[in-house]
Formats: sequence, C-alpha cells, structure tokens
Amino acid sequence: MTLPFRSAQVVIQGAGPVGLACSIWLLENHPDLQVILLDKNPQDDSFLSSADDRGIAISEGSKQLLENIHAWVKEAPTIHSVHVSHRGHFGQTLMSKDEIGQKALGHIVRYRDVVIALRHQLRRMQMNSVNFIWEFDFSDNIELQQLSSEACLIHADGGLFHEQSAKDVRKDYGQSALVGSLEVSNVSPDMAWERFTEEGPIAILPHHQGHDFKNFVWCASKKTIEQLIQFDDTTFLLKLQEALQMPIGKLNKVLHRKSYPLGLNIKKNIVSDREVWIGNAAQTLHPVAGQGLNLGLRDAYTLANALAFFYARPDQHSVQKLQQTLHQYQQQRQRDRDATIRVTDLMASVFATNAFPFVLARGLALSALQWIPPLKNQLARQMMFGQR
Ligand SMILES: Cc1cc2nc3c(=O)[nH]c(=O)nc-3n(C[C@H](O)[C@H](O)[C@H](O)COP(=O)(O)OP(=O)(O)OC[C@H]3O[C@@H](n4cnc5c(N)ncnc54)[C@H](O)[C@@H]3O)c2cc1C
Repeated sequence: MTLPFRSAQVVIQGAGPVGLACSIWLLENHPDLQVILLDKNPQDDSFLSSADDRGIAISEGSKQLLENIHAWVKEAPTIHSVHVSHRGHFGQTLMSKDEIGQKALGHIVRYRDVVIALRHQLRRMQMNSVNFIWEFDFSDNIELQQLSSEACLIHADGGLFHEQSAKDVRKDYGQSALVGSLEVSNVSPDMAWERFTEEGPIAILPHHQGHDFKNFVWCASKKTIEQLIQFDDTTFLLKLQEALQMPIGKLNKVLHRKSYPLGLNIKKNIVSDREVWIGNAAQTLHPVAGQGLNLGLRDAYTLANALAFFYARPDQHSVQKLQQTLHQYQQQRQRDRDATIRVTDLMASVFATNAFPFVLARGLALSALQWIPPLKNQLARQMMFGQR
C-alpha cells in the first residue's frame, strides 16, 4: 500500500515507548488529526514476548503521565528508598519516599511491558481516530520533502548508543551495562541500591516477579562486562558480591544476562524547519541516573500538546506558524534536557575516576545530600518529575 504522506499532518517515525506515547497524546487531544505512525515492528504483539526485558526505572512523574492515558503497568514494583554509596570511599546517602513526601521514589517496569501497555492503549484509541494510520514492518527513512508543506515530521526512532550515528555531542564512556535478574532471599523488598565502583555503577532494583527477585544493572569497562557475561552462575554471583562489598541479603541465582554498550549522544538542535527529534532520537544517556525514557516521555508529552494546539486552529495554519510552534517547543524543553543531561553525564564521569580532587568532591557531595535535606529534595524532585 502507498502511504498517503501528502495528506498527513503529522508523521512519526519510530514506535518505541516515546513514539507510541506521542501518538496517544496527539490523538487524545485531537482525535481527527491525520497522523501516520511508522512502526518497524510487526502488528502482532507476540514478538514482544522475547523482546527486551530490562527493568527500567520510571519516575513518579512518568507514572502519572502514563496513568492519565491508561498505559500504566499495574504490577510495577515501587521503590520506597534508595541507598547511594561509593565502594571503598566515604560519603553515602539514603533517600526515602517519606522525606520527599511522595508515595514512591520510582517504579520498575520492563521495557517490553511499557511498549505493550502503550500499544494496547493506542489500539483502543484507533477505533475513534479515523484519520490515524499505524503502519507496521516499516523502516525506510522518510524525508520532509515527501510530506505536505504544513506537515510535521517527528523522529522517534531512537535506538541504543552503539546503533546510532554520531550526533553533535558524542561521548563513549568505554563502558557497557550488564543487565539481568537475580533470585534473592532476605533482601529488603522496596529498596534500591546504587553502588559506585571504579569501573562504573551497579544498581540493584525491585523486580516485577516479587520480593524474591531483583533486577541488576552492572556498568563496567567493556572488557569486564564481556568476562562477566561468560562466567558460570556461581562465579558470577561471587564476582557481584565482591564488587558490591556490601551486605544486601543473599543472592541465590542469576538469570537472563544481556549487555548494552553505553554512551552519550546528543542532538543540540532538536528542531529543524518542520522536523523534530524526541526521546533517544534527540538524546541517548548513560543509565546511571535512570532518566532516558523519563526525559523522552516528557519530550513526547510537551510536543504533542504544542502540536495539538497548533492543529486545533486551522484558520491560523501556515508554515511559519508551525515552525514557530516547534521553535517554542525546543525552548520549552531546553532547561529539562540540559539539567538531565548534565546530571547524568556528571554522575557517569565523576564516579569513574580515582583522581584525588574528584574522590573528595564526590564524597562530600554524597555527604552533603545526606545532611542537607533541601539539596536532597531538590535533586530527588528533578529526578522524579523533571520539568515540563
Ligand atoms: C541498559 C539500559 C538501562 C536503561 N535504564 C533506564 C532507566 O532505568 N530509566 C529510564 O528512564 N531510561 C533507561 N534507559 C533508557 C531507555 O531505554 C531509552 O531512553 C528509551 O528506550 C527511549 O525510548 P525511544 O522510544 O525514544 O527509543 P527506542 O526505545 O530505541 O525505540 C525506538 C523505536 O524506533 C524503531 N525504529 C528504529 N529505526 C526506525 C525506522 N527507520 N523506522 C521506523 N522505526 C524505527 C525501533 O525499532 C524502536 O521500536 C536505559 C537504557 C539502557 C541501554
């Protein structure tokens, strides 16, 4: 079938969580909008049963956004407190939901479960959105020239760091993340740990299968991760305990180890003419602060609102007005993007060095967070809600 690109008002390339959420917010605001969503994946959800099952930390702010569009994964375990420390060095901090006055600090959802929940909701909305086209198994790159002069092209075809071509700022941390699940006993159920080591951070997080399981994300040099993935289960668990050097409970079994190369890849200008980049297509971050998807959802939400407002006023349509709307969107997103990228890059870089001034500074920073509650509150709020 030839797609009617010429009559589309919005074309979204990429149907990961950010592209799907953006489609939902657009259609929720404007059910008649002529939207084409280009999905690389097949129509049938069954491919997701073997898809990416890494646990993603979803902030309270993102949970609220997803709940409002009926795409929240109800079984998602919550994080009530987070312990942050640096192996072998002074300074640590414990953040709890009560200090911040929230029901939870965050939630853990498998990547594939977010995608399924969003797909289900978009399918429900499709019935009332007669001009919406959801094209599957599609991966050709679309050019602006293929669209009408008043249409907007949204790039949401993010991808992982090693799959992406270089954007304006690209930094390879020389690290990979090893992600998987642990079978555990006597481990505090709603608690998360982030333990910094010389090679990178290790996070232990709640798990969707309940209290006897945990997710882990172990970031280290690419060489170390290659070795860790090869070890038999017993050796791996010993290595993990050695790396943590901290009693968190008993680690009984490791499951589903998978590695991901890590880096920073940032597009400075996220708008050009009538094209806009959101989610990982705009910025790919180190997972140390668990912010990539959260930031991408805020991109999608803000953009969908801006475009829905623009397309709701046909009498005022013009190429210039659309460009102006997108330009305003870029300005609106600047502070949140800058703050999130800076904090994430700082955490990924500063903890991975042993130079004395940095060791001192990060020890002091962790202690300051512990002893100066407003500072802790401010950081927690940025991580939980960002700015939109
Ligand atoms: C190890 C690891 C842990 C992470 N942990 C966290 C965390 O705890 N919290 C957090 O917020 N974030 C986390 N992230 C980041 C998070 O996974 C990403 O930010 C998020 O997936 C971005 O979503 P997206 O929809 O923009 O891109 P993607 O998830 O990459 O989706 C892009 C989609 O576009 C499709 N596509 C690609 N090319 C085309 C094309 N030409 N045409 C059509 N479709 C195309 C792809 O198939 C895919 O479906 C982590 C990342 C890693 C690697």
